[in-house]
Amino acid sequence: MWSEDRVTGSNAFHHSVPGASSFTVDNFHVRNSVVKHYILSHFHADHYAGLRKKFNSGKIYCTPVTARLVKLKIGVSADHLVAVAYHSPLLIEGTRVTFLPANHCPGSALILFETPDGKCHLHTGDFRFHPKFSEDPVLSSFTSTGSRKIDHLFLDTTYCSPEHEFPAQEDAIRFVGELVKSNAFANRETLFLVGSYTIGKEEVFLQAARESGCKLYVHPAKKKVLECLELKEEDQQRLTTVAHEARLHVVPMGCINFKQMSAYLGMAKGKYKTVVGIRPTGWTFSGGPRQERGPLVIYGVPYSEHSSFSEIRSMVK
Ligand SMILES: [Zn+2]
Repeated sequence: MWSEDRVTGSNAFHHSVPGASSFTVDNFHVRNSVVKHYILSHFHADHYAGLRKKFNSGKIYCTPVTARLVKLKIGVSADHLVAVAYHSPLLIEGTRVTFLPANHCPGSALILFETPDGKCHLHTGDFRFHPKFSEDPVLSSFTSTGSRKIDHLFLDTTYCSPEHEFPAQEDAIRFVGELVKSNAFANRETLFLVGSYTIGKEEVFLQAARESGCKLYVHPAKKKVLECLELKEEDQQRLTTVAHEARLHVVPMGCINFKQMSAYLGMAKGKYKTVVGIRPTGWTFSGGPRQERGPLVIYGVPYSEHSSFSEIRSMVK
């Protein structure tokens, strides 16, 4: 979160688009009458901080998924939202703006600005680098063998230190899917809790449901969020808001601890003998990858939606 912006109300350089002063990126604290175009990279609180229901300072440009979430969770009027699909360039005051998939959370985007002075600037928002980026027709034109160059790169540096390395997302998802599948068939008295945020980590619990064939319990408020994400029909069919219909529950990440899991076990009134908590996170899990306390087991799974250090290097190259 950029706390200094709240104090100064400035369009600080890391939010700006050089050569296009009417733009700001992930900055709703700006107090600057020149700024009219608010670019939102994705719907995470540290990026939309300062955005209020009564926003009327200009237009907010974001992907359709992010626009639906802004409407649902903040209540911003549709009149102020411009939903822009990936790879659909939009010309705004002579600047060409293109949203590209960021492989972070649903609706997240890298945003390319091609300004009237002929320069190119890329804001990554938050992103998880993936080898498929090299197949993106826009990004591939900027690689070392490509014909174009980025003049300014505004980079997500969450894990920009060599100790931050974690497995591919596919490996982490596969691990969770197999864990739930093997336990689901071997022991029908196990309740699985998968931690999640308002958005993010969806592939972990969806893949667990696909692999195991289990129904997936979500709180009604979470279901409304998931309805914004363009899930496949088969995934939507697995969702239920009736807790006792499912042995696989999506819960807030903060519920994956022994105290809360013990409470879940108590509420189940003997229906379950074991509770397995899955905590997908890129942050180091302080207790190690597996912790067990009586009938409760917690797995920390290194599923990151930010790039590792080596992936950040790959992106810059
Ligand atoms: Zn984020």
